[in-house]
Amino acid sequence: MSLDIQSIRKDFPILEQKVYGKPYAYFDNAATALRPLQVLDAMSKIYYQFNGNPHRGAHYMSNQTTLAYEHVRDQVHAFINAPLREEIIFTRGATESINLVAYSFGDAFINEGDEIIVSEMEHHANIVPWQLLVQRKKAVLKVLPITDRGELMLEKLDELITSKTKLIAICLVSNVLGTVNPVKEIIEKAHARNVRVLIDATQSIQHLKTDVQQLDCDFLVFSGHKMYGPTGVGCLYGKKELLDAMPPFMAGGEMIDKVSFKGTTFNELPYKFEAGTPNFTEVVGLGAAIDYINNLGLDKVAGYEHELLEYTTSKLKEIDGMRIIGEARNKTSVISFLVGKIHPYDIGMFLDKMGFAVRTGHHCAEPLMDWYGIPGTVRVSLAVYNTFDEADRLVEAIKKTIQMLS
Ligand code: PLP
Repeated sequence: MSLDIQSIRKDFPILEQKVYGKPYAYFDNAATALRPLQVLDAMSKIYYQFNGNPHRGAHYMSNQTTLAYEHVRDQVHAFINAPLREEIIFTRGATESINLVAYSFGDAFINEGDEIIVSEMEHHANIVPWQLLVQRKKAVLKVLPITDRGELMLEKLDELITSKTKLIAICLVSNVLGTVNPVKEIIEKAHARNVRVLIDATQSIQHLKTDVQQLDCDFLVFSGHKMYGPTGVGCLYGKKELLDAMPPFMAGGEMIDKVSFKGTTFNELPYKFEAGTPNFTEVVGLGAAIDYINNLGLDKVAGYEHELLEYTTSKLKEIDGMRIIGEARNKTSVISFLVGKIHPYDIGMFLDKMGFAVRTGHHCAEPLMDWYGIPGTVRVSLAVYNTFDEADRLVEAIKKTIQMLS
């Protein structure tokens, strides 16, 4: 059975609002998606009915939050098909997950002269932590180039990897181009040369099935708020042998085994990497988001979003002066574009006044903008609640904007 988009839309109360008196069309899902009632309800249930610090108290409420929190670990474990539940670490988001690896793996395994490879199309969150790491360790950051279409130049990877390469950190889907990268092939090439791979799944986890065993990645990161979950929660998956060998990232309560002034020993996985009171309410919200996606069926979501992507792209291409940035053969849910010489901010501002939320600017990917030699783009990013009718109205609004600006 196909998805009933109108009934899905009823789960997202924000969509019922008007903005400047206009029906609201939300096309900024790559920045942050909307949250369904199911997620909001699960979180308010925690605030209304349970309160207790997970893992700490011996009392009823604390046990309830512990059960709820650890249940979500099982859900993530199944959702990404991780081999072991203790390989799932809760963080505040993808950015924190990448920083955890950059500090902790970096501390243990990166030495002077070692090399780390990222791609030209990475989000700043998958560039800057590595820049800081190479500064700390006197290591080297290398960049895998892309083609005009916005695809990785995979053939260059063999030259880039040397005996000094320790890690490749790469996105599965680009937040600007929508390109779906052939990460399985990259991981195979990397492992053949003894190089570890971190996959930034922040823009893929909500659109495509994730299977860390099939990918055989060493690390994988994502954020809850891009997959219909709350802000302030994300995950790091890491292979146990690596996480075991890595030192703690943040220190404090819960991550310890025994503390004394003579020295401290650390808790086992996953708690070694979860210092302090966990954001258990947000974690429970993430669990509800996973249930929500599973109930829809990620395959159906992907199929629907793909049709909508193709449709919207073809309609946009009918506009005079339209330049799509990123025309990879394998794409999902993101369309970046420029029209003639019009500045992307101007288009975004006019669209906003007409009730359309799009993103404009460099999308936290300044090196990619420099590569294309552009100041930024207008970005339309899709989610399961977007409709073909919204896409038609968006295209008409863009045409009107161009007329007004010309
Ligand atoms: N990686 C990619 C590809 C992203 O698109 C983003 C956010 O847009 C991030 C990482 C960082 O995510 P967060 O800000 O939720 O930590």
